[in-house]
Amino acid sequence: MEVSGARKSNAPRSLVTGGAGFLGSHVCDRLIAEGHEVLCLDNLLTGSVKNIEHLIGNPRFQFVQADVADPAGLTSALGLGKAAPGPGSKPAGALDYILHLASPASPVDYARYPMETLRAGSEGTRQALELARACGSVFLVTSSSEVYGDPEISPQVESYWGHVNPIGPRSCYDEAKRFAEAVTMAYARQHGVAVRIARIFNTYGERMRVEDGRVLPNFLMQALRDQTLTVYGDGSQTRSFCYVSDMVEGLYRLLLSSEAGPVNLGNPEEVTILEVAKEVIELTGSRSQIIFQPLPTDDPRRRKPDIGKAVAQLHWRPVVSRREGIRRVIPYFENCARAANPARPS
Ligand code: UDP
Repeated sequence: MEVSGARKSNAPRSLVTGGAGFLGSHVCDRLIAEGHEVLCLDNLLTGSVKNIEHLIGNPRFQFVQADVADPAGLTSALGLGKAAPGPGSKPAGALDYILHLASPASPVDYARYPMETLRAGSEGTRQALELARACGSVFLVTSSSEVYGDPEISPQVESYWGHVNPIGPRSCYDEAKRFAEAVTMAYARQHGVAVRIARIFNTYGERMRVEDGRVLPNFLMQALRDQTLTVYGDGSQTRSFCYVSDMVEGLYRLLLSSEAGPVNLGNPEEVTILEVAKEVIELTGSRSQIIFQPLPTDDPRRRKPDIGKAVAQLHWRPVVSRREGIRRVIPYFENCARAANPARPS
């Protein structure tokens, strides 16, 4: 891949794939706040321009609708391989950082888009790495706690190899993320690319799609509409929920670190899904009841990150408790509920 893109300034220049998604758009915000020029790439399969509309018009921000797995799309859409740099600009072709976040990320989404999910993790990651190799960029990939599958140990530590069903309904995501890690390490070993691997545990916050099927958007929208909360299984399975501002801080610190191996990022405060349902009802002041529905196939029984490595290497730990985070995010979901049903009194 030949790369020679012009640069407007000496600001660090970053590419964020999946930059119009829930997490990607918050990452774009952070990089802009840190003074970066940001190229945001998204095919809008599960992302939305709404998430980045406040950045459009900022001279340091550029949005490109393209698929990271499409090689021609990637370089031409980014305007790479075209213009020569102007006076005072940085050397040609430089992308200092590539953050590869593009992928459907909720179990409902990746069941709906299995091919796109496999492609984003495999060919998408390879293309983004190829670009990082050509540009000499630092490359950060967002992997997932799903690489641990339905874990036999808890908390999950980075040295655990996981317990993944390679042919189950979640495998399109789990195996895509495992491949993404493998190809990232291969580029590091073979081509000397500077890589960072974030294993992201359940994260929530503003800009999540209300219909993305994940547990907090479901419970919050159900509670705010006084509808029944749908707990899958008996609700004894656990998760550990990280508020988005904590996750972005962890990702930013990882990007600037020299940690090449995978790092768990998540909030280690473990809770059962039934407890979360009760908490959401309490915090929203809802009159909703709870019903139990079948547990999806291969739904992990337990999930809790061991964040010892992030604490030691990045001096990072989450600072927003789950109750505080849920309180913070309620107004966003209230707005979503009002937008969907404007007649309803607030
Ligand atoms: N879940 C639930 N009710 C819902 C949505 C999800 O009980 O309406 C459960 C799901 O079965 C899982 C947990 O909540 O045990 C977290 O699911 P989510 O889809 O948010 O993400 P996952 O952690 O499974 O990737």
